[in-house]
Amino acid sequence: MIKYALSCEHGHAFESWFASSAAYDKQVKNALVFCPLCNSTKVEKAIMAPRLAGTRKRERETATPASGAAAPPAPAAESSASLPAGVPAQQPAAPVAMMSPQEREFRKKLRELREHLTQNADYVGRKFPEEARKMHYGEVKHRSIYGEASPDEAKDLHEEGIEFHPLPVLPDERN
Ligand SMILES: [Zn+2]
Repeated sequence: MIKYALSCEHGHAFESWFASSAAYDKQVKNALVFCPLCNSTKVEKAIMAPRLAGTRKRERETATPASGAAAPPAPAAESSASLPAGVPAQQPAAPVAMMSPQEREFRKKLRELREHLTQNADYVGRKFPEEARKMHYGEVKHRSIYGEASPDEAKDLHEEGIEFHPLPVLPDERN
C-alpha cells in the first residue's frame, strides 16, 4: 500500500491509499478517484506524504510559492510610489556649506579686518584711484583710505606701483 497526497482541480488537498503506483494511475484514469470535498475526479498526485502528515502540509507548500512570487512586486511598487513624496525635489535649492572651525575663524578675522579698515580709514568712494594716486606721488599726506575702483582703474594703479588691497568682502554681505 502506498499513500498519495492528492489535489483536485479546485485545489482541495486530500490523501488516499492505493495498492501501488500503477493502481493509482489506473484509478485516476478511470475517474475512480474523486475529491472528498467537491467530488471532482480531476485529481492529480502531489507529493508522497509521510504517514502522519496532514493535508495542511500540502496546502502550505502550494500556497507558499504563489504568495512568494506575488510578494516582491508589492514592496517595489510601494517604495517607488513613496519615493517622490519623500524627496524634497520641488523645494528651491539654496547654496549651503558646512563651515569648519577654521573657516569660521577665518571669516571672523576677515570681518574684523574689514571693520578695522572702515573705521580707521576715510571713505573716498569712486575717488579712490585719484586719492591713492595723490598719496602715492606725495601730493597729499598719507592716510588710510578706502573706496571703489573699477577693474581697469585697479589695474592702472597696480601698474603705477601703488599699493592697495581689495577690501575683504564676506559672502553674507554680498546680498
Ligand atoms: Zn475538490
